[in-house]
Amino acid sequence: APILSVESLTKTYRSGGLFSTTPPVQAVAGVSFDIAPGETLALVGESGCGKSTIGRVIMNLTDPTSGHVVFDGSDLATLDAKAALETKTHLQMIFQDPFGSLNPRKTVRQILSQPFRVAGISNWEPRVLDLLRVVGMTPPERFVNRMPHEFSGGQRQRIAIARAFALQPKLIVADECVSALDVSVRAQILKLMKRLQQETQVSYLFISHDLGVVRSMAHRVAVMYLGRLVEIGPVEQIFNAP
Ligand code: ADP
Ligand code: ADP
Repeated sequence: APILSVESLTKTYRSGGLFSTTPPVQAVAGVSFDIAPGETLALVGESGCGKSTIGRVIMNLTDPTSGHVVFDGSDLATLDAKAALETKTHLQMIFQDPFGSLNPRKTVRQILSQPFRVAGISNWEPRVLDLLRVVGMTPPERFVNRMPHEFSGGQRQRIAIARAFALQPKLIVADECVSALDVSVRAQILKLMKRLQQETQVSYLFISHDLGVVRSMAHRVAVMYLGRLVEIGPVEQIFNAP
C-alpha cells in the first residue's frame, strides 16, 4: 500500500479576503499521485506552479479546497485530535531555511528533545546525542548546548534532519531543502538523506526546481505546470524524454 495518496487535490487562494477584487488564484488543480514506502518522488516545475502548496496541504498547514490526502491509510482531516497527533509524528517536513523549523531561541538539546518530550519519552538525553551522531555532528556534546544561529547553513540543515528522524518518520516532505546551500555542502546533505532512507525506508516528497539534484535523488518524478500535474514517471523516463 502507498504511504501517501494525494487524490484530486485542488487549492484556490482567495487572497485579499471576502470583499477583495483580486481574482482568486488556482494554485493546484486536480492533482493525484501516490508515494510508496522507501520511495523518493520529486515534485518539479517552475516557480509558482503549486509545488509548495501541495507540500503544505500534505502537512496540514493549509486546507485543500477539494480533494484528499491519505497518509498511512488515513485521511488526516477526518482523524480525531489524538489520532492526528500520533499520525503526524510520522509525517515530517524539512524547509529550505532551517530557521523555519528550528526555534532560534532554543538550544539543540531543547530542539531535538521536543519530539521525545511530546511523545512522553522521559529518558531522551541519550537519544538526542544519538541523533546528532547519526547526522554526523560528532562528538555530540560539542553541539548540544548551542543554538541554531551558531551553526552554518549545512549544520542547521543537519539539525533539522535529525529532528525529522527523531521518531521513525514514514514520510518527509523536503521543500527546496538544499537550495540555499553551496554545492559541496548540498552534496553532503543529499548523501546523508539517501543513507537515512536506506537505513529507515523513509519516503521523501522532494520538492525542487533543481533538475541536477532531482536526478540524483528521485526514483520517480512528477512534473507540474500551472497547478496541474502534466507528467509522472520513473526518473530515467522523465529525463530521457525526447
Ligand atoms: P511553487 O512552490 O511551485 O513555487 P506555490 O505553491 O508557492 O508554487 O504557489 C502557487 C501559486 O499560488 C502561485 O501563483 C502563488 O503566488 C500562489 N500562492 C501561494 N501561496 C499563496 C497565499 N498564501 N495566498 C495567495 N496566493 C498564494
Ligand atoms: P516548541 O513547542 O518547543 O516551541 P516549535 O516552535 O519548534 O516547538 O514547534 C511548534 C510545533 O510545530 C511543534 O508541535 C512541532 O511538532 C511542530 N513542528 C515544527 N517543525 C516541524 C517539522 N519540521 N515537521 C513537523 N512538525 C514540526
